[in-house]
Amino acid sequence: MGSGLESFVKIPTIKFTKLFINGEFVDSISGKTLETIDPRTGEVIARVAVGDKEDVDLAVKAARHAFDSGPWPRYSGSARARIMMKFADLIDQNVEELAALDTLDGGKLFSMGKAADIPRAASILRYYAGAADKIHGEVLKMSREFHAYTLREPIGVVGHIIPWNIPSGSFSMKVSPTLAAGCTMVVKPAEQTPLSALYYAHLAKLAGIPDGVINVVTGFGPTAGAAISSHMDIDAVSFTGSTEVGRKVMQAAATSNLKVVSLELGGKSPLIIFDDADIDIAAELALRGILHNKGEVCVASSRVYVQEGIYDELVKKLVAKTKAWVVGDPFDPKVQQGPQVDKKQFEKILSYIEHGKREGATLLTGGKPLGGKGYYIAPTIFTDFKEEMLIAKDEIFGPVMALAKFKTIDEAIERANKTRYGLAAGIMTKDLNVANTVSRSIRAGTIWINCYFAFDNDCPVVGYKTSGFGSDLGLEALYKYLKVKSVVTPLYNTPWL
Ligand code: NAD
Repeated sequence: MGSGLESFVKIPTIKFTKLFINGEFVDSISGKTLETIDPRTGEVIARVAVGDKEDVDLAVKAARHAFDSGPWPRYSGSARARIMMKFADLIDQNVEELAALDTLDGGKLFSMGKAADIPRAASILRYYAGAADKIHGEVLKMSREFHAYTLREPIGVVGHIIPWNIPSGSFSMKVSPTLAAGCTMVVKPAEQTPLSALYYAHLAKLAGIPDGVINVVTGFGPTAGAAISSHMDIDAVSFTGSTEVGRKVMQAAATSNLKVVSLELGGKSPLIIFDDADIDIAAELALRGILHNKGEVCVASSRVYVQEGIYDELVKKLVAKTKAWVVGDPFDPKVQQGPQVDKKQFEKILSYIEHGKREGATLLTGGKPLGGKGYYIAPTIFTDFKEEMLIAKDEIFGPVMALAKFKTIDEAIERANKTRYGLAAGIMTKDLNVANTVSRSIRAGTIWINCYFAFDNDCPVVGYKTSGFGSDLGLEALYKYLKVKSVVTPLYNTPWL
């Protein structure tokens, strides 16, 4: 595994490790801290404040005050937009440092952070800044002589609970539409990757976002996260993470103040490759669909179905490409896959690999840890799997592909839908009839035809089935943070009772 990284990048000193509440970095009330770990080595990067219920209470109080009496919800949309644009510019100016933090904390490729994740965080902010002055209701056609219209008002204080796999993207996808809507918020980043969220909070303050609008409480899920989902003074909770925790968030919301809930959850997405697909492109897409971000992607193409006519040739190409895939230090520009986020995730993936072997799937390549230290796993392909096997049923969230052969379009659709998840799917074919039939038959929120991971700010990411509900990105996400109010008045000054 690589060393001498200073030639590639300047490893930043960690500047922000405290909670960010009401515009200030503060210690947690308990004074407790957690160790954030470098997955390249298993060593401690920094100690970060552990927020608990009392800290969440303080953060909510600040957010409530900023919402009820502060300027942010009262600014015009264009005034909010100007500040959001400045925030985005500051992100661009600090791209290297932010990318380095996500690499240190989460093992993400530094080159990807610099070229994609961090610029994307800025571009999402700009997208929603552009929408901030276009929030309006509708004029309604009433059956009697009334003038009626709807207003779209900010929903209030929002709680955001985010995962570790795309720390910067998740932060921006949650925070940007919430800012545009005129809401205030408490953000809880994942305990594995708290560093960039604190840095974003610092940049938000520099940009002029008023105190109390964005609060960041670092800490653990069952304490700080649960305090957000059960809080009586939070109006909406937007959660991205596992289906298992999503259920808990929904339960907590239901048994507290019935806050509005949106859940962006796990996936087990199929990629279906038909005989007429370009075989080289298909092999590359299948590979990147699972190995991008070391498989720690909610929409990863973890089940790949290949039609029988090209199956053998595609498998040969896929295995060759997988063996040439470079695993190593994510700061090294030649590397294509870094370490898994932490020891727990590393062990979980390896245990799924053992399950796959025990359940009778055929291991084509990989299937083992790499390197003497850190949490590296060889890109792994299983074939001959059945949908009942754990490796095909569960979200492994690692570099593990399950590959199968199919004969007919009906068989492909049936097998692709044989999952409790419904986040995304990919289809590779030159036949428009096939593409349209399959895209309408798969129960998933995003369908990519002859592409994969083609995200855009304007394209909502939504889940079917246990992949959740609500959306990130697109104008749909802005509406999550707005409430509709109907206003009705008689047209004429005449009695109407
Ligand atoms: P996770 O569910 O373990 O944790 C997510 C967040 O929830 C973390 O901040 C965690 O601290 C918090 N949390 C844990 N227990 C909690 C509780 N009891 N109450 C409130 N909050 C709690 O998920 P993860 O392992 O961090 O992330 C991986 C998961 O996220 C995968 O399932 C992945 O598919 C999913 N994900 C989904 C999307 C999407 O858009 N659908 C995007 C990225 C990741």
